[in-house]
Amino acid sequence: MTHIEKAQGFLDQQYHCSQAIAGAFAEEFGFNKKNVMKISTCFGAGMNHGGLCGCITSAMLVFGMAFGLYDPQDKELEVYGSKMASKFYDRFYEKMNGKVLCREILEADISNPDELAVIRQEGRVNKICPHVMEMSIEIIEEILREHDEDAVYLRMNLDNQQEMKEKETVLKRVDRLHDFRKNVHDLLSASDRKIAFVQFDIRRFKIINDLYGEKFGDEILLFVKEKLKELCNDRQFFMNPSGDVFMVVTEYDDEQMLMDFIKTIESGLTSFKNVKLQLTFGVYSIEDKNMEIRQMEDRAAIARMAAKTNVLTNVLFYKEQFKELLYTRKFIEENMHAAVEEKQFQMYLQPKYSISQNKIVGAEALVRWTHPERGMVYPNEFIPIMEENGFIKIVDYYIWGEACRFIKKCAEVGITDCPISVNVSRHHLKDVEFMSVLADDIRENQIDKSLLELEITETVNDLKISQVAMQLKEGGFTLLMDDFGSGYSSLNVLLETPFDVIKLDKKFMDNMMASEKGKLILEYVVSMAEKLGLGLLAEGVETKEQVELLRKIGCDKVQGYYFAKPMPQEEFFEFLIKERKGE
Ligand code: C2E
Ligand code: CA
Ligand code: CA
Repeated sequence: MTHIEKAQGFLDQQYHCSQAIAGAFAEEFGFNKKNVMKISTCFGAGMNHGGLCGCITSAMLVFGMAFGLYDPQDKELEVYGSKMASKFYDRFYEKMNGKVLCREILEADISNPDELAVIRQEGRVNKICPHVMEMSIEIIEEILREHDEDAVYLRMNLDNQQEMKEKETVLKRVDRLHDFRKNVHDLLSASDRKIAFVQFDIRRFKIINDLYGEKFGDEILLFVKEKLKELCNDRQFFMNPSGDVFMVVTEYDDEQMLMDFIKTIESGLTSFKNVKLQLTFGVYSIEDKNMEIRQMEDRAAIARMAAKTNVLTNVLFYKEQFKELLYTRKFIEENMHAAVEEKQFQMYLQPKYSISQNKIVGAEALVRWTHPERGMVYPNEFIPIMEENGFIKIVDYYIWGEACRFIKKCAEVGITDCPISVNVSRHHLKDVEFMSVLADDIRENQIDKSLLELEITETVNDLKISQVAMQLKEGGFTLLMDDFGSGYSSLNVLLETPFDVIKLDKKFMDNMMASEKGKLILEYVVSMAEKLGLGLLAEGVETKEQVELLRKIGCDKVQGYYFAKPMPQEEFFEFLIKERKGE
Protein backbone atom coordinates (compact mmCIF):
# COMPACT_ATOMS: atom_id res chain seq x y z
CA MET A 1 0.00 0.00 0.00
CA THR A 2 1.31 3.45 -0.77
CA HIS A 3 1.54 6.17 1.84
CA ILE A 4 -1.28 8.02 0.16
CA GLU A 5 -3.53 4.96 0.23
CA LYS A 6 -2.71 4.35 3.86
CA ALA A 7 -3.43 7.94 4.78
CA GLN A 8 -6.65 7.93 2.80
CA GLY A 9 -7.69 4.87 4.76
CA PHE A 10 -7.16 6.75 8.01
CA LEU A 11 -9.16 9.72 6.79
CA ASP A 12 -11.98 7.32 5.93
CA GLN A 13 -11.83 6.07 9.50
CA GLN A 14 -12.41 9.65 10.65
CA TYR A 15 -8.84 10.38 11.73
CA HIS A 16 -7.55 13.94 11.37
CA CYS A 17 -5.28 14.95 8.52
CA SER A 18 -2.27 15.14 10.86
CA GLN A 19 -2.95 11.63 12.16
CA ALA A 20 -3.46 10.24 8.69
CA ILE A 21 -0.07 11.46 7.48
CA ALA A 22 1.94 10.53 10.56
CA GLY A 23 0.14 7.20 10.80
CA ALA A 24 0.98 6.36 7.19
CA PHE A 25 4.72 6.58 7.92
CA ALA A 26 4.94 5.50 11.56
CA GLU A 27 5.51 1.80 11.30
CA GLU A 28 8.25 1.79 8.72
CA PHE A 29 10.32 3.96 11.04
CA GLY A 30 9.79 1.58 13.91
CA PHE A 31 7.15 3.53 15.78
CA ASN A 32 4.00 2.27 17.31
CA LYS A 33 1.12 3.49 15.17
CA LYS A 34 -1.23 4.03 18.07
CA ASN A 35 1.22 6.24 19.95
CA VAL A 36 2.04 8.24 16.89
CA MET A 37 -1.66 8.84 16.31
CA LYS A 38 -1.96 10.21 19.83
CA ILE A 39 1.02 12.49 19.42
CA SER A 40 -0.06 13.78 16.04
CA THR A 41 -3.49 14.72 17.38
CA CYS A 42 -1.70 16.99 19.75
CA PHE A 43 0.71 18.16 17.06
CA GLY A 44 -2.09 18.97 14.66
CA ALA A 45 -4.32 20.58 17.24
CA GLY A 46 -3.28 24.04 16.12
CA MET A 47 -5.58 23.80 13.15
CA ASN A 48 -8.56 23.84 15.48
CA HIS A 49 -7.74 27.43 16.11
CA GLY A 50 -7.40 28.26 12.47
CA GLY A 51 -3.63 27.82 12.82
CA LEU A 52 -1.08 25.95 10.75
CA CYS A 53 -2.50 23.23 8.52
CA GLY A 54 -2.21 19.84 10.25
CA CYS A 55 -0.44 18.42 7.22
CA ILE A 56 2.53 20.69 7.92
CA THR A 57 2.85 19.76 11.55
CA SER A 58 2.56 16.07 10.80
CA ALA A 59 5.24 16.34 8.10
CA MET A 60 7.61 17.61 10.78
CA LEU A 61 6.65 14.63 12.89
CA VAL A 62 7.45 12.28 10.02
CA PHE A 63 10.93 13.79 9.58
CA GLY A 64 11.46 13.43 13.30
CA MET A 65 10.57 9.76 13.09
CA ALA A 66 12.67 9.19 10.01
CA PHE A 67 15.86 10.75 11.26
CA GLY A 68 15.63 10.69 15.03
CA LEU A 69 16.97 14.21 15.33
CA TYR A 70 16.78 14.17 19.07
CA ASP A 71 20.26 14.77 20.35
CA PRO A 72 20.36 18.07 22.26
CA GLN A 73 24.17 17.92 22.26
CA ASP A 74 24.46 17.75 18.53
CA LYS A 75 23.92 21.11 16.88
CA GLU A 76 24.71 19.81 13.42
CA LEU A 77 21.88 17.34 13.58
CA GLU A 78 19.58 20.05 14.80
CA VAL A 79 20.52 22.33 11.93
CA TYR A 80 20.02 19.51 9.49
CA GLY A 81 16.60 18.83 10.98
CA SER A 82 15.57 22.47 10.68
CA LYS A 83 16.70 22.54 7.07
CA MET A 84 14.46 19.60 6.26
CA ALA A 85 11.56 21.27 7.96
CA SER A 86 12.08 24.53 6.04
CA LYS A 87 12.39 22.66 2.78
CA PHE A 88 9.02 21.10 3.35
CA TYR A 89 7.46 24.34 4.43
CA ASP A 90 8.78 26.23 1.38
CA ARG A 91 7.51 23.64 -1.07
CA PHE A 92 4.15 23.45 0.64
CA TYR A 93 3.91 27.24 0.63
CA GLU A 94 4.72 27.38 -3.05
CA LYS A 95 2.28 24.69 -4.09
CA MET A 96 -0.49 26.19 -1.99
CA ASN A 97 0.17 29.68 -3.27
CA GLY A 98 1.07 30.96 0.14
CA LYS A 99 -1.82 29.36 1.99
CA VAL A 100 -0.48 27.60 5.06
CA LEU A 101 -3.14 28.23 7.66
CA CYS A 102 -6.06 25.87 8.03
CA ARG A 103 -8.38 28.86 7.99
CA GLU A 104 -6.98 30.05 4.68
CA ILE A 105 -7.12 26.65 3.08
CA LEU A 106 -10.67 25.82 4.10
CA GLU A 107 -11.76 29.45 3.94
CA ALA A 108 -13.33 28.98 7.34
CA ASP A 109 -12.24 28.46 10.91
CA ILE A 110 -12.96 24.94 12.14
CA SER A 111 -12.75 26.07 15.76
CA ASN A 112 -15.72 28.34 15.21
CA PRO A 113 -18.96 26.32 15.54
CA ASP A 114 -20.89 28.42 13.03
CA GLU A 115 -18.20 28.24 10.42
CA LEU A 116 -17.69 24.55 11.12
CA ALA A 117 -21.37 23.91 10.49
CA VAL A 118 -21.04 25.53 7.07
CA ILE A 119 -17.91 23.58 6.22
CA ARG A 120 -19.68 20.37 7.16
CA GLN A 121 -22.72 21.21 5.16
CA GLU A 122 -20.68 21.95 2.09
CA GLY A 123 -18.43 18.93 2.65
CA ARG A 124 -15.44 21.20 2.20
CA VAL A 125 -13.15 19.10 4.41
CA ASN A 126 -13.76 16.03 2.33
CA LYS A 127 -13.23 17.96 -0.85
CA ILE A 128 -10.11 19.92 0.02
CA CYS A 129 -8.21 18.06 2.74
CA PRO A 130 -7.45 14.81 0.88
CA HIS A 131 -5.90 16.85 -1.86
CA VAL A 132 -3.68 18.84 0.54
CA MET A 133 -2.78 15.63 2.32
CA GLU A 134 -1.80 13.89 -0.89
CA MET A 135 0.32 16.80 -1.92
CA SER A 136 2.02 16.87 1.46
CA ILE A 137 2.82 13.18 1.29
CA GLU A 138 4.33 13.70 -2.12
CA ILE A 139 6.57 16.44 -0.78
CA ILE A 140 7.59 14.28 2.17
CA GLU A 141 8.46 11.38 -0.11
CA GLU A 142 10.36 13.73 -2.37
CA ILE A 143 12.46 15.06 0.51
CA LEU A 144 13.14 11.58 1.86
CA ARG A 145 14.23 10.48 -1.58
CA GLU A 146 16.48 13.48 -2.03
CA HIS A 147 18.07 12.74 1.28
CA ASP A 148 18.80 9.18 0.21
CA GLU A 149 20.23 10.33 -3.10
CA ASP A 150 22.35 12.96 -1.43
CA ALA A 151 23.72 10.34 0.87
CA VAL A 152 24.48 7.93 -1.93
CA TYR A 153 26.04 10.67 -4.00
CA LEU A 154 28.21 11.75 -1.15
CA ARG A 155 29.21 8.24 -0.38
CA MET A 156 30.42 7.82 -3.94
CA ASN A 157 32.15 11.17 -4.23
CA LEU A 158 34.46 11.44 -1.31
CA ASP A 159 36.32 14.55 -2.37
CA ASN A 160 37.83 16.68 0.30
CA GLN A 161 36.00 19.93 -0.06
CA GLN A 162 35.35 21.06 3.45
CA GLU A 163 31.67 21.81 3.00
CA MET A 164 31.11 18.49 1.34
CA LYS A 165 32.80 16.71 4.20
CA GLU A 166 30.74 18.40 6.85
CA LYS A 167 27.52 17.76 5.05
CA GLU A 168 28.58 14.22 4.49
CA THR A 169 29.16 13.44 8.15
CA VAL A 170 25.79 14.76 9.20
CA LEU A 171 24.01 13.08 6.35
CA LYS A 172 25.79 9.83 6.96
CA ARG A 173 24.88 9.82 10.61
CA VAL A 174 21.26 10.64 9.93
CA ASP A 175 21.24 8.15 7.13
CA ARG A 176 22.68 5.34 9.24
CA LEU A 177 20.14 5.83 11.97
CA HIS A 178 17.40 5.86 9.38
CA ASP A 179 18.62 2.67 7.70
CA PHE A 180 19.28 0.94 10.97
CA ARG A 181 15.81 1.54 12.33
CA LYS A 182 14.23 0.58 9.06
CA ASN A 183 16.21 -2.67 8.95
CA VAL A 184 15.33 -3.46 12.52
CA HIS A 185 11.71 -2.76 11.83
CA ASP A 186 11.70 -5.11 8.87
CA LEU A 187 13.49 -7.78 10.86
CA LEU A 188 11.00 -7.45 13.70
CA SER A 189 8.08 -8.06 11.39
CA ALA A 190 9.74 -10.76 9.33
CA SER A 191 11.41 -12.88 11.99
CA ASP A 192 9.82 -15.43 14.25
CA ARG A 193 13.03 -16.01 16.21
CA LYS A 194 14.10 -14.14 19.32
CA ILE A 195 15.72 -10.78 18.77
CA ALA A 196 18.14 -8.86 20.98
CA PHE A 197 19.68 -5.42 21.02
CA VAL A 198 23.32 -5.62 22.06
CA GLN A 199 24.97 -2.34 22.88
CA PHE A 200 28.61 -1.99 23.85
CA ASP A 201 31.27 0.58 24.45
CA ILE A 202 35.00 0.62 25.05
CA ARG A 203 36.09 0.99 28.63
CA ARG A 204 38.11 4.12 29.31
CA PHE A 205 37.84 5.20 25.70
CA LYS A 206 38.14 8.83 26.76
CA ILE A 207 41.39 8.05 28.50
CA ILE A 208 42.71 6.19 25.45
CA ASN A 209 41.77 9.23 23.38
CA ASP A 210 43.61 11.54 25.73
CA LEU A 211 46.66 9.36 25.99
CA TYR A 212 47.14 8.49 22.35
CA GLY A 213 45.35 11.33 20.63
CA GLU A 214 42.01 11.66 18.90
CA LYS A 215 43.30 10.40 15.60
CA PHE A 216 44.21 7.13 17.21
CA GLY A 217 40.78 7.08 18.83
CA ASP A 218 39.18 7.48 15.42
CA GLU A 219 41.28 4.64 14.08
CA ILE A 220 39.97 2.41 16.84
CA LEU A 221 36.37 3.30 16.00
CA LEU A 222 37.01 2.52 12.36
CA PHE A 223 38.56 -0.76 13.35
CA VAL A 224 35.47 -1.65 15.38
CA LYS A 225 33.19 -0.79 12.46
CA GLU A 226 35.19 -2.91 10.05
CA LYS A 227 35.16 -5.80 12.47
CA LEU A 228 31.41 -5.54 12.95
CA LYS A 229 30.93 -5.49 9.19
CA GLU A 230 32.90 -8.69 9.02
CA LEU A 231 31.06 -10.37 11.90
CA CYS A 232 27.49 -9.43 11.05
CA ASN A 233 25.51 -11.40 8.51
CA ASP A 234 22.78 -9.82 6.42
CA ARG A 235 20.22 -10.25 9.19
CA GLN A 236 22.40 -8.64 11.85
CA PHE A 237 22.51 -4.87 11.86
CA PHE A 238 24.75 -2.46 13.66
CA MET A 239 25.23 1.23 14.10
CA ASN A 240 27.41 3.63 16.01
CA PRO A 241 24.95 6.00 17.67
CA SER A 242 27.62 8.12 19.29
CA GLY A 243 31.30 8.19 20.26
CA ASP A 244 32.50 4.75 21.24
CA VAL A 245 29.02 3.27 21.62
CA PHE A 246 27.97 0.57 19.18
CA MET A 247 24.70 -1.24 18.83
CA VAL A 248 24.04 -4.57 17.17
CA VAL A 249 20.69 -6.20 16.59
CA THR A 250 20.62 -9.94 16.14
CA GLU A 251 18.26 -12.88 15.98
CA TYR A 252 18.97 -15.82 18.25
CA ASP A 253 17.43 -19.07 19.49
CA ASP A 254 18.65 -19.42 23.04
CA GLU A 255 20.73 -17.46 25.49
CA GLN A 256 23.83 -19.53 24.83
CA MET A 257 23.71 -18.62 21.18
CA LEU A 258 23.38 -14.94 22.04
CA MET A 259 26.27 -15.13 24.49
CA ASP A 260 28.38 -16.88 21.87
CA PHE A 261 27.70 -14.04 19.46
CA ILE A 262 28.69 -11.48 22.09
CA LYS A 263 31.86 -13.43 22.85
CA THR A 264 32.69 -13.47 19.16
CA ILE A 265 32.45 -9.70 19.04
CA GLU A 266 34.52 -9.43 22.19
CA SER A 267 37.26 -11.74 21.00
CA GLY A 268 37.41 -9.95 17.67
CA LEU A 269 38.09 -6.70 19.46
CA THR A 270 40.55 -7.53 22.22
CA SER A 271 43.18 -5.04 21.12
CA PHE A 272 44.16 -2.50 18.54
CA LYS A 273 47.84 -1.84 17.79
CA ASN A 274 48.91 -3.20 21.18
CA VAL A 275 46.35 -1.18 23.09
CA LYS A 276 44.02 -3.48 24.98
CA LEU A 277 40.34 -2.88 24.42
CA GLN A 278 37.86 -3.90 27.05
CA LEU A 279 34.21 -3.89 26.11
CA THR A 280 31.14 -3.46 28.25
CA PHE A 281 27.91 -4.94 26.92
CA GLY A 282 24.27 -4.20 27.66
CA VAL A 283 21.67 -6.53 26.22
CA TYR A 284 17.96 -6.11 25.76
CA SER A 285 16.01 -9.12 24.51
CA ILE A 286 12.79 -8.03 22.94
CA GLU A 287 9.66 -9.18 24.68
CA ASP A 288 7.13 -6.96 22.99
CA LYS A 289 7.68 -6.37 19.31
CA ASN A 290 5.33 -3.43 19.38
CA MET A 291 7.53 -1.45 21.70
CA GLU A 292 9.14 1.49 19.99
CA ILE A 293 12.60 0.81 18.58
CA ARG A 294 13.93 3.87 20.38
CA GLN A 295 12.80 2.40 23.66
CA MET A 296 14.48 -0.91 22.87
CA GLU A 297 17.69 0.98 22.13
CA ASP A 298 17.36 2.85 25.40
CA ARG A 299 16.99 -0.36 27.36
CA ALA A 300 20.14 -1.82 25.88
CA ALA A 301 21.87 1.46 26.75
CA ILE A 302 20.62 1.31 30.33
CA ALA A 303 21.91 -2.27 30.67
CA ARG A 304 25.29 -1.20 29.28
CA MET A 305 25.58 1.60 31.79
CA ALA A 306 24.71 -0.80 34.58
CA ALA A 307 27.38 -3.19 33.32
CA LYS A 308 29.95 -0.43 33.59
CA THR A 309 29.78 -0.37 37.35
CA ASN A 310 29.48 -4.13 37.75
CA VAL A 311 32.74 -5.73 38.81
CA LEU A 312 31.69 -9.30 38.24
CA THR A 313 30.77 -9.23 34.58
CA ASN A 314 30.99 -7.07 31.50
CA VAL A 315 27.74 -8.34 30.01
CA LEU A 316 24.41 -7.46 31.58
CA PHE A 317 20.85 -8.08 30.47
CA TYR A 318 18.33 -5.31 30.98
CA LYS A 319 16.35 -5.31 34.21
CA GLU A 320 13.70 -2.84 35.30
CA GLN A 321 15.71 -1.78 38.34
CA PHE A 322 18.54 -0.51 36.12
CA LYS A 323 16.46 2.57 35.55
CA GLU A 324 17.38 3.53 39.08
CA LEU A 325 20.99 3.68 37.99
CA LEU A 326 20.15 6.14 35.29
CA TYR A 327 18.38 8.30 37.80
CA THR A 328 21.43 8.17 40.04
CA ARG A 329 23.63 9.29 37.19
CA LYS A 330 21.27 12.13 36.40
CA PHE A 331 21.10 13.10 40.04
CA ILE A 332 24.87 13.20 40.32
CA GLU A 333 25.41 15.20 37.17
CA GLU A 334 22.75 17.70 38.10
CA ASN A 335 23.89 18.15 41.67
CA MET A 336 27.67 17.91 41.67
CA HIS A 337 28.36 21.56 40.87
CA ALA A 338 26.15 22.82 43.67
CA ALA A 339 27.75 20.25 45.95
CA VAL A 340 31.09 21.99 45.61
CA GLU A 341 29.68 25.46 46.07
CA GLU A 342 27.67 24.40 49.10
CA LYS A 343 30.55 22.43 50.61
CA GLN A 344 28.72 19.12 50.63
CA PHE A 345 31.91 17.12 50.14
CA GLN A 346 33.78 16.10 53.24
CA MET A 347 37.00 14.32 53.91
CA TYR A 348 36.70 11.17 55.98
CA LEU A 349 39.78 9.42 57.29
CA GLN A 350 40.27 5.72 57.83
CA PRO A 351 43.14 4.73 60.12
CA LYS A 352 45.88 2.34 59.08
CA TYR A 353 47.33 0.17 61.84
CA SER A 354 50.47 -1.70 62.54
CA ILE A 355 49.53 -5.07 64.02
CA SER A 356 52.82 -5.57 65.82
CA GLN A 357 53.01 -2.09 67.32
CA ASN A 358 49.25 -1.93 67.85
CA LYS A 359 49.16 1.71 66.80
CA ILE A 360 47.91 4.04 64.12
CA VAL A 361 50.52 4.46 61.42
CA GLY A 362 48.60 6.60 58.97
CA ALA A 363 45.21 7.16 57.39
CA GLU A 364 43.54 7.19 54.00
CA ALA A 365 41.47 10.17 52.91
CA LEU A 366 38.11 9.12 51.48
CA VAL A 367 35.56 11.53 50.13
CA ARG A 368 31.98 11.63 51.38
CA TRP A 369 29.11 13.53 49.87
CA THR A 370 26.27 14.56 52.13
CA HIS A 371 23.38 15.81 50.09
CA PRO A 372 20.81 17.90 52.00
CA GLU A 373 17.88 15.81 50.78
CA ARG A 374 19.32 12.51 49.69
CA GLY A 375 21.71 12.07 52.60
CA MET A 376 25.01 10.27 52.25
CA VAL A 377 26.07 9.43 48.70
CA TYR A 378 28.92 6.91 48.57
CA PRO A 379 32.01 7.17 46.37
CA ASN A 380 31.23 3.94 44.56
CA GLU A 381 28.11 5.63 43.24
CA PHE A 382 29.57 8.92 42.15
CA ILE A 383 33.32 8.43 41.53
CA PRO A 384 32.93 6.28 38.38
CA ILE A 385 30.55 8.85 36.92
CA MET A 386 32.82 11.74 37.81
CA GLU A 387 35.79 9.93 36.35
CA GLU A 388 33.90 9.75 33.13
CA ASN A 389 32.86 13.35 33.01
CA GLY A 390 36.09 14.70 34.45
CA PHE A 391 34.55 16.28 37.54
CA ILE A 392 36.72 14.02 39.68
CA LYS A 393 39.49 16.58 39.29
CA ILE A 394 37.60 19.12 41.33
CA VAL A 395 36.72 16.63 44.04
CA ASP A 396 40.25 15.29 44.27
CA TYR A 397 41.79 18.75 44.43
CA TYR A 398 39.46 19.57 47.29
CA ILE A 399 40.33 16.39 49.20
CA TRP A 400 44.07 16.89 48.65
CA GLY A 401 43.77 20.40 50.05
CA GLU A 402 41.89 19.07 53.05
CA ALA A 403 44.47 16.34 53.58
CA CYS A 404 47.31 18.89 53.57
CA ARG A 405 45.47 21.13 56.00
CA PHE A 406 44.91 18.10 58.21
CA ILE A 407 48.59 17.20 58.14
CA LYS A 408 49.41 20.77 59.12
CA LYS A 409 46.88 20.65 61.96
CA CYS A 410 48.55 17.47 63.26
CA ALA A 411 52.01 19.01 63.03
CA GLU A 412 50.75 21.93 65.10
CA VAL A 413 50.01 19.54 67.96
CA GLY A 414 53.28 17.71 67.46
CA ILE A 415 52.05 14.69 65.53
CA THR A 416 54.38 14.21 62.58
CA ASP A 417 54.26 10.45 62.17
CA CYS A 418 50.81 9.98 60.66
CA PRO A 419 51.00 10.23 56.87
CA ILE A 420 47.73 10.73 55.04
CA SER A 421 47.23 9.01 51.72
CA VAL A 422 44.98 10.48 49.07
CA ASN A 423 43.50 8.80 46.03
CA VAL A 424 44.77 10.01 42.70
CA SER A 425 42.25 9.20 40.01
CA ARG A 426 43.74 7.98 36.76
CA HIS A 427 42.13 10.97 35.18
CA HIS A 428 44.96 13.15 36.51
CA LEU A 429 47.74 11.04 35.21
CA LYS A 430 47.26 12.10 31.63
CA ASP A 431 48.55 15.59 32.18
CA VAL A 432 50.88 17.04 34.73
CA GLU A 433 48.66 19.89 35.88
CA PHE A 434 47.86 17.97 39.05
CA MET A 435 51.50 18.01 40.11
CA SER A 436 51.52 21.75 40.49
CA VAL A 437 48.27 21.54 42.45
CA LEU A 438 49.94 19.12 44.85
CA ALA A 439 53.04 21.31 45.05
CA ASP A 440 50.92 24.38 45.83
CA ASP A 441 49.00 22.55 48.58
CA ILE A 442 52.23 21.41 50.16
CA ARG A 443 53.84 24.82 49.97
CA GLU A 444 50.80 26.69 51.27
CA ASN A 445 50.51 24.45 54.30
CA GLN A 446 54.26 24.15 54.79
CA ILE A 447 54.07 20.45 55.37
CA ASP A 448 56.62 17.73 54.93
CA LYS A 449 56.06 16.13 51.54
CA SER A 450 56.65 12.65 52.91
CA LEU A 451 53.45 12.96 54.97
CA LEU A 452 51.25 13.16 51.89
CA GLU A 453 51.09 9.78 50.17
CA LEU A 454 49.51 9.08 46.81
CA GLU A 455 47.34 6.06 46.07
CA ILE A 456 47.23 5.08 42.42
CA THR A 457 45.09 2.24 41.16
CA GLU A 458 46.90 -0.49 39.39
CA THR A 459 45.69 -0.89 35.84
CA VAL A 460 46.83 -1.78 32.37
CA ASN A 461 50.45 -1.00 32.12
CA ASP A 462 51.07 2.05 30.11
CA LEU A 463 54.11 4.08 29.45
CA LYS A 464 52.65 7.52 30.02
CA ILE A 465 51.41 6.61 33.48
CA SER A 466 54.70 5.10 34.53
CA GLN A 467 56.45 8.22 33.29
CA VAL A 468 54.22 10.45 35.36
CA ALA A 469 54.65 8.11 38.31
CA MET A 470 58.39 8.30 37.83
CA GLN A 471 58.21 12.08 37.93
CA LEU A 472 56.21 11.95 41.15
CA LYS A 473 58.70 9.58 42.62
CA GLU A 474 61.59 11.82 41.65
CA GLY A 475 59.68 14.71 43.18
CA GLY A 476 59.87 12.85 46.49
CA PHE A 477 56.33 11.48 46.79
CA THR A 478 55.49 8.14 48.30
CA LEU A 479 53.45 6.03 45.87
CA LEU A 480 50.97 3.40 46.99
CA MET A 481 49.68 0.90 44.52
CA ASP A 482 45.97 0.69 45.27
CA ASP A 483 43.82 -2.42 44.80
CA PHE A 484 46.67 -4.81 44.11
CA GLY A 485 45.33 -8.14 42.89
CA SER A 486 42.06 -6.81 41.55
CA GLY A 487 43.31 -6.57 37.98
CA TYR A 488 45.38 -8.80 35.82
CA SER A 489 48.65 -7.08 35.13
CA SER A 490 49.78 -6.26 38.63
CA LEU A 491 53.17 -7.84 38.31
CA ASN A 492 53.97 -6.09 35.07
CA VAL A 493 53.01 -2.76 36.56
CA LEU A 494 55.39 -3.41 39.42
CA LEU A 495 58.18 -3.72 36.94
CA GLU A 496 57.47 -0.41 35.23
CA THR A 497 56.20 1.82 37.99
CA PRO A 498 58.28 2.68 41.03
CA PHE A 499 55.75 2.02 43.78
CA ASP A 500 56.74 2.17 47.44
CA VAL A 501 53.85 0.29 48.96
CA ILE A 502 51.41 -2.32 47.75
CA LYS A 503 47.86 -2.20 49.06
CA LEU A 504 46.28 -5.62 48.84
CA ASP A 505 42.75 -5.40 47.55
CA LYS A 506 39.97 -6.59 49.82
CA LYS A 507 38.48 -9.03 47.31
CA PHE A 508 41.88 -10.45 46.48
CA MET A 509 42.50 -11.06 50.17
CA ASP A 510 39.07 -12.55 50.76
CA ASN A 511 39.58 -14.87 47.81
CA MET A 512 43.01 -15.97 48.87
CA MET A 513 42.04 -16.56 52.44
CA ALA A 514 39.28 -18.91 51.39
CA SER A 515 41.67 -21.78 50.56
CA GLU A 516 44.99 -23.25 51.61
CA LYS A 517 46.39 -22.67 48.17
CA GLY A 518 45.30 -19.04 48.36
CA LYS A 519 46.96 -18.59 51.71
CA LEU A 520 50.16 -19.90 50.21
CA ILE A 521 49.92 -17.34 47.41
CA LEU A 522 49.43 -14.61 50.01
CA GLU A 523 52.56 -15.77 51.80
CA TYR A 524 54.49 -15.51 48.57
CA VAL A 525 53.14 -12.05 47.91
CA VAL A 526 54.41 -11.01 51.32
CA SER A 527 57.86 -12.39 50.67
CA MET A 528 57.90 -10.93 47.15
CA ALA A 529 57.15 -7.47 48.55
CA GLU A 530 59.90 -7.95 51.10
CA LYS A 531 62.45 -8.98 48.51
CA LEU A 532 61.53 -6.06 46.28
CA GLY A 533 61.85 -3.70 49.22
CA LEU A 534 58.19 -2.73 48.99
CA GLY A 535 55.89 -1.94 51.87
CA LEU A 536 52.69 -3.92 52.14
CA LEU A 537 49.28 -3.09 53.55
CA ALA A 538 46.16 -5.23 53.62
CA GLU A 539 42.89 -3.46 52.95
CA GLY A 540 39.36 -4.30 54.05
CA VAL A 541 40.35 -6.39 57.05
CA GLU A 542 37.17 -7.28 58.87
CA THR A 543 37.80 -10.25 61.15
CA LYS A 544 40.09 -11.44 63.87
CA GLU A 545 41.01 -14.51 61.81
CA GLN A 546 42.22 -12.29 59.02
CA VAL A 547 44.35 -10.29 61.44
CA GLU A 548 45.84 -13.47 62.85
CA LEU A 549 46.68 -14.88 59.46
CA LEU A 550 48.24 -11.59 58.33
CA ARG A 551 50.30 -11.47 61.48
CA LYS A 552 51.46 -15.03 60.90
CA ILE A 553 52.57 -14.47 57.33
CA GLY A 554 54.25 -11.19 58.14
CA CYS A 555 51.92 -8.56 56.70
CA ASP A 556 52.03 -5.99 59.46
CA LYS A 557 50.04 -3.05 58.15
CA VAL A 558 46.29 -3.19 57.87
CA GLN A 559 43.28 -1.04 57.21
CA GLY A 560 39.72 -2.17 57.68
CA TYR A 561 36.50 -2.20 59.64
CA TYR A 562 38.02 -4.59 62.17
CA PHE A 563 40.10 -1.68 63.44
CA ALA A 564 38.08 1.34 62.40
CA LYS A 565 35.73 2.57 59.75
CA PRO A 566 36.36 5.80 57.86
CA MET A 567 35.31 8.69 60.11
CA PRO A 568 34.90 12.47 59.77
CA GLN A 569 38.29 14.12 59.95
CA GLU A 570 37.49 15.95 63.20
CA GLU A 571 36.66 12.64 64.82
CA PHE A 572 39.85 11.06 63.58
CA PHE A 573 41.83 14.02 64.89
CA GLU A 574 40.48 13.48 68.43
CA PHE A 575 40.97 9.73 68.07
CA LEU A 576 44.59 10.16 67.03
CA ILE A 577 45.43 12.62 69.78
CA LYS A 578 43.98 10.28 72.40
CA GLU A 579 45.86 7.33 71.00
CA ARG A 580 49.15 9.20 70.91
CA LYS A 581 48.67 10.35 74.47
CA GLY A 582 48.17 6.70 75.37
CA GLU A 583 44.62 7.17 76.61
P1 C2E B 1 39.59 2.41 47.87
O1 C2E B 1 40.61 3.46 47.60
O2 C2E B 1 39.99 0.99 47.65
O3 C2E B 1 39.11 2.68 49.34
C1 C2E B 1 38.81 1.68 50.25
C2 C2E B 1 37.35 1.47 50.34
O4 C2E B 1 37.08 0.33 51.14
C3 C2E B 1 36.62 2.62 51.03
O5 C2E B 1 35.35 2.72 50.45
C4 C2E B 1 36.52 2.13 52.46
O6 C2E B 1 35.46 2.74 53.16
C5 C2E B 1 36.26 0.66 52.22
N1 C2E B 1 36.64 -0.16 53.36
C6 C2E B 1 37.63 0.07 54.26
N2 C2E B 1 37.70 -0.93 55.14
C7 C2E B 1 36.76 -1.82 54.80
C8 C2E B 1 36.34 -3.09 55.36
O7 C2E B 1 36.87 -3.60 56.33
N3 C2E B 1 35.34 -3.72 54.72
C9 C2E B 1 34.72 -3.19 53.63
N4 C2E B 1 33.72 -3.88 53.09
N5 C2E B 1 35.08 -2.02 53.09
C10 C2E B 1 36.10 -1.33 53.66
P2 C2E B 1 34.77 4.09 50.00
O8 C2E B 1 35.17 5.16 50.92
O9 C2E B 1 33.34 3.83 49.73
O10 C2E B 1 35.53 4.36 48.67
C11 C2E B 1 35.35 3.56 47.55
C12 C2E B 1 36.34 3.89 46.47
O11 C2E B 1 36.09 5.21 45.96
C13 C2E B 1 37.76 3.95 46.97
O12 C2E B 1 38.28 2.69 46.99
C14 C2E B 1 38.41 4.84 45.94
O13 C2E B 1 38.74 4.11 44.80
C15 C2E B 1 37.31 5.80 45.60
N6 C2E B 1 37.50 7.04 46.36
C16 C2E B 1 37.11 7.35 47.61
N7 C2E B 1 37.45 8.62 47.93
C17 C2E B 1 38.07 9.13 46.83
C18 C2E B 1 38.68 10.40 46.51
O14 C2E B 1 38.71 11.35 47.31
N8 C2E B 1 39.21 10.53 45.26
C19 C2E B 1 39.20 9.51 44.36
N9 C2E B 1 39.76 9.72 43.18
N10 C2E B 1 38.66 8.32 44.63
C20 C2E B 1 38.11 8.13 45.84
CA1 CA C 1 42.50 4.00 47.96
CA1 CA D 1 41.78 0.03 47.59
